[in-house]
Amino acid sequence: MQKAHLWNSDENAVRCLLCSHYCRIHEGRRGVCQVRKNVDGVLYSLNYGKLIASHIDPIEKKPLFHFLPGSQSYSIAMTGCNLRCSWCQNWEISQLSNSNDPDRLPFVAPDTVVKAAAKSGCKSISYTYTEPTIFYEYARDVSLLAREAGLRNVWVSNGYMTEEMLDEYLPLLDVINVDVKCFDGDVHRKYTGAKLHPILDNCIRLKKAGVWLEVTTLLIPGINDSREQVEGLASFIANELGTETPWHVSRYYPQPQFREIGPTDPGVIEDALITGRKAGLQFVYGGNLRRDEDTHCPSCGELLIGRSSLWMTVNKIEDCVCPKCGAKIAGIWE
Ligand code: SF4
Repeated sequence: MQKAHLWNSDENAVRCLLCSHYCRIHEGRRGVCQVRKNVDGVLYSLNYGKLIASHIDPIEKKPLFHFLPGSQSYSIAMTGCNLRCSWCQNWEISQLSNSNDPDRLPFVAPDTVVKAAAKSGCKSISYTYTEPTIFYEYARDVSLLAREAGLRNVWVSNGYMTEEMLDEYLPLLDVINVDVKCFDGDVHRKYTGAKLHPILDNCIRLKKAGVWLEVTTLLIPGINDSREQVEGLASFIANELGTETPWHVSRYYPQPQFREIGPTDPGVIEDALITGRKAGLQFVYGGNLRRDEDTHCPSCGELLIGRSSLWMTVNKIEDCVCPKCGAKIAGIWE
């Protein structure tokens, strides 16, 4: 166990300040994420350094399409999550069980991760697969060392962290993909167990802080694919985050724990991409579709980056601009 960061005492309990649940945790109990525990009035992280996954991925897999395209990212995760999304694609590692109990996993020191990432030629370390907020202490320690080693820090997140956490971590964060799951607060609470508005507020906060932000939405039939929700989310991204913010709209495939809903019709994804373009978004991408993955110049339409199944096939961007018309292309390219 590692003493947790960002909490305070609250009468006969502790209050965790890491995510927007702000759990009040009594002696011997755990928070919603199940990996933070009150022991004798002190909050502990139970998953510090207990890697449940580490892989080298193409950055396109996160998905991040406007950040060092074609580069590899050393990707790590700990067990646990602060949300309970019924359709989670990583349910087996995001939800605590006997088989993924951190106590049963070996400890990996932060500098071991950074050395492995640097040695493998990765340009970044991604905190991903589960929710990095719930392994914040470890992510922060790795991030500090990553910066010293010249590596960028990438989060793939549900965006439910607190303002307190973001304020502290923003100087270390280079890039984030936030999974905005829907645009209806009741639907969000019903299927994830969390409120929607802190996530939208955090997207605005991240953008204002200058962190490179891309947004992902998994469209699930009957849950978040209504015209109101898709139009609402597209307008939010365009108006509040900026039309240069990439939006990845992904097709849902049934997961073992959520089989009652079938896969998303590809036409629904196409319609959502059209809605995004109508809202003014310059970069909308299809996910799990095997098409609509390429980047075109928003000024002249030139193909800039070609992709196939989340691998970059061509990159024509030079000095951050379109080689044909000279328009500046939003992103981090070098
Ligand atoms: S990280 Fe979130 S879910 Fe976990 S204990 Fe803290 S406030 Fe609760």
